[in-house]
Amino acid sequence: ESVVSAVASPEERDAEATVRPKRLSEFIAQERVREQLEVLLHSALRRGSPPDHILFSGSPGLGKTTLAMIVAAELGGGLRMTSGPAIERSGDLAAILTSLAAGDVLFIDEIHRIAKPAEELLYSAMEDFRVDVIVGKGPGATAIPLDVEPFTLVGATTRAGLLTGPMRDRFGFVGHLEFYNGTELTALLHRSARILGVPVTGEGVEEIAGRSRGTPRIANRLLRRVRDYAELRADGVVTLDAARAALRVYDVDDLGLDRLDKAVLAALVETFGGGPVGLSTLAVAVGEQPETVAEVCEPFLVRAGLLARTPRGRVATPAAWQHLGRTPPNSAFP
Ligand code: ATP
Repeated sequence: ESVVSAVASPEERDAEATVRPKRLSEFIAQERVREQLEVLLHSALRRGSPPDHILFSGSPGLGKTTLAMIVAAELGGGLRMTSGPAIERSGDLAAILTSLAAGDVLFIDEIHRIAKPAEELLYSAMEDFRVDVIVGKGPGATAIPLDVEPFTLVGATTRAGLLTGPMRDRFGFVGHLEFYNGTELTALLHRSARILGVPVTGEGVEEIAGRSRGTPRIANRLLRRVRDYAELRADGVVTLDAARAALRVYDVDDLGLDRLDKAVLAALVETFGGGPVGLSTLAVAVGEQPETVAEVCEPFLVRAGLLARTPRGRVATPAAWQHLGRTPPNSAFP
């Protein structure tokens, strides 16, 4: 696993819990979503009834799970957490739904991956706070209607477009999380360092922020790696020098590219003259599966303005040439 992967390993979840904001006021950036949520939650509290169901969309590591926990904390209710892939049968979901207490939050991560029968059961729970549990099989099967306590569903998905229309329509609030800019990540890292008791300098923290690919999870992880390095090889302070030296060891360059990202760019520029080149040819050149290149490397390279996907193939942008210390040919980018 790359140190700049946006996805958390199971072991990493514990480290993340330490710095996770518990209340809306501690959650950094995402002003729009935060303000909308504040109104939604506080008006619900004032009315004394649960708010509309909430959907968070956004790339991994931007704070969807954190916000789900915050919603439960702000509402003062309990929190049940599950995920779309974990709900295999609609009976599993019925068991969860009927065990909820009034005012609880049910968080379903990767809600777009929920199985169809369970999805339909969820509709009636969301809309009417009841579910029909089917007992028996074949002609003798009967539907037993069961009440569900008034709850709030919080769903998370990497893209709202992955949801079926009927599912999307049942959420009264959709919050889209954006990537974080350097200033926001710097503030976030100062907060994490304070909680972890890690001494930092402003420059050290800014250096980490700039290499974190706009993602809090990556920023927090790089902070922990630089701290380890500083403790072992220096005086324990996260300075500019410590950040640079540690991230060199981890092969994270000044834009946050890892070894594979750089290999893809280098192949594109040096082997294929900047492209266009087909995905599978490019993948062979770096010794990876095409899916890995397309799903792991390319999204960030495209977002960073280094690679473009054109109908004729992948093309290196002038910024990619410059990043590799080369002069872009005039014809390389139409
Ligand atoms: P995934 O879907 O992969 O679980 P996610 O979007 O749910 O990703 P979180 O688990 O909520 O991401 O966040 C990852 C880490 O980043 C957590 O440690 C969390 O505390 C931190 N984090 C995310 N957003 C913020 C924020 N706005 N302020 C402070 N910390 C944040």
